[in-house]
Amino acid sequence: MYKKLIVDSGIRMLHSGLTVETWGNISARDPKSGFIYLTPSGMQYNVINEDDIVVVKEDGTIVEGTRKPTIETDLHLGIYRHRKDINAIVHTHPIYSQVFAVLRQDIPPIIDEAAQILGGPVKCAKYGLPGTDELAINCVTILKDSGYACLLANHGAVCLGMDMDMAFKVSAVLEMTAQIYLLARSIGKPVVFDQKEIDFMHDFAYHHYGQ
Ligand SMILES: [Zn+2]
Repeated sequence: MYKKLIVDSGIRMLHSGLTVETWGNISARDPKSGFIYLTPSGMQYNVINEDDIVVVKEDGTIVEGTRKPTIETDLHLGIYRHRKDINAIVHTHPIYSQVFAVLRQDIPPIIDEAAQILGGPVKCAKYGLPGTDELAINCVTILKDSGYACLLANHGAVCLGMDMDMAFKVSAVLEMTAQIYLLARSIGKPVVFDQKEIDFMHDFAYHHYGQ
């Protein structure tokens, strides 16, 4: 079930336009077994099948799979170790979010969706080369206690969810917020919600909204 989830999520990410070709990576944790399912390194999302998914323990020991896992495995595992509330991580390279990642600027919550789903500013982690300990540590430093997304300087975005649908929702909302923030800044000074407004919307989205 989790292998299929990762395969399907790769196609979903590709079709979302949030990344191109083989960039980005995806993982999910089975809360029952604690096993983490990762995309393989450098494979096209439309050819990956269930046999290509790598299953690891939280300490990185491979449980199943013959492929090399994503080069950002340490980033994924680091987040899972600190965040027991998180069971899915989507790392993308989206255009508008990356505008702010290359400026190394945070993205404030300026629209309702951002306040509701992201619950605060999306911070930009310090730069680390792809696949390095430094990159993983810089990202985990931002997300270890709270938050659902961060930017990787000059690189991309990391979005978290209690499940995969939420991780994709976070990814979409982050990219939309970045696009609106860029456009708004180009003609004026965007107004950011105050913390009381953010807290109200975030609580409403997670506890009272929907059926
Ligand atoms: Zn990347």
